[in-house]
Amino acid sequence: MTAALQDDEIDYDYAISVAERAMRHMSQHRIPPTPENFRVWASYAQGAPASLKRTIDVLIGNKRAFDAQTNRDLSATFAESEPGAAGASQQLSAVVDAARAFLSTAIADNKSQMRTIGDAAGAVSNGADPKLLVESLVKELSKAATRASKLEQNFAASSRELDTIRHSLEKAEERSKTDMLTGLPNRRGFDEFLRLAQTAAMEKGDPLGLLLIDVDHFKRFNDDFGHNVGDQVLKLLGGVLKERVRENDLAARYGGEELIVVLPAADMNTCAAVAERIRTSIAEAKITRRASGEALPGITVSIGVAQFRPGEPAAEFIERCDNALYAAKSSGRNRVMTEHQLGSDLLAS
Ligand code: GH3
Ligand code: MG
Ligand code: MG
Repeated sequence: MTAALQDDEIDYDYAISVAERAMRHMSQHRIPPTPENFRVWASYAQGAPASLKRTIDVLIGNKRAFDAQTNRDLSATFAESEPGAAGASQQLSAVVDAARAFLSTAIADNKSQMRTIGDAAGAVSNGADPKLLVESLVKELSKAATRASKLEQNFAASSRELDTIRHSLEKAEERSKTDMLTGLPNRRGFDEFLRLAQTAAMEKGDPLGLLLIDVDHFKRFNDDFGHNVGDQVLKLLGGVLKERVRENDLAARYGGEELIVVLPAADMNTCAAVAERIRTSIAEAKITRRASGEALPGITVSIGVAQFRPGEPAAEFIERCDNALYAAKSSGRNRVMTEHQLGSDLLAS
């Protein structure tokens, strides 16, 4: 556990210089010095977190005005990017405690040996029998060697144990981000990927696309053929998505019968083309009941497509994609709708 920095542990001059830089930036961009804004800009002045600094640099580079909405977004994004109080695994902290106890024993052992050898050295200058001294030193050294090899064995065993724990923590972390039915990343895996993709897109000035995919009339399908068959269909859709996206893209299960795809460095045309390929692959897939081989009616999906706007929070990006999906549903299902089409439809109506 790291305790919060106390007042007297802070470098006063450094803190003042950060505060002054933050205030300079804020007055330059006409940002009201509220506690929330100050927190954002003091962090910017310190250059951390790096993702916040990059976001603000991009906004400044693009000459974006820091209006009330942008300031709120920055504050919200900043809160999202702060590392949470990561709960240390109990298992791991037990091993760390054991290692600490083990090291302090080793240190105490060493100290007592040093004392014995020091006593022997003192005895030499006091004119003691050198033969006896040599014998006692040899005895001490061989004891030390035995202890050292025991310590080495203990140390090797502890490192192996740590490796096993690290491995199982990595596995658990992986499982916690994977959906068991489809084998795709789950919502948590998606959230993490999207956050990194947003930062990378702003850093490189690349576009970033999002597809939200929802099965059409899935409730009816479940009612007609049973939930288990419905589950198998979701599994099949997961397989289609895996085949249809590139290595750097991410297809995930967003929840229930909704799937989501993140397409880094893909502009709107590319995203719409990928979405269309996914839609047709699914519409053309033959679905059969595994037990009886009976052919089941096909499944279709509706897909909403949106492009990331640099600096916006993930929730807003997803919401725009969801609006496009909603429009795809209400205009007849089994179709792809981009937010651009949505915009022009709204203008036309
Ligand atoms: P729409 O075209 O408007 O999307 O119709 P819908 O019936 O798909 O939409 P609705 O949201 O009303 O229903 C979603 C259904 O998806 C409800 C639920 O039975 C089904 N569903 C959600 N998660 C799962 C799942 O994990 N397995 C199965 N088999 N069905 C699921
Ligand atoms: Mg749904
Ligand atoms: Mg649905």
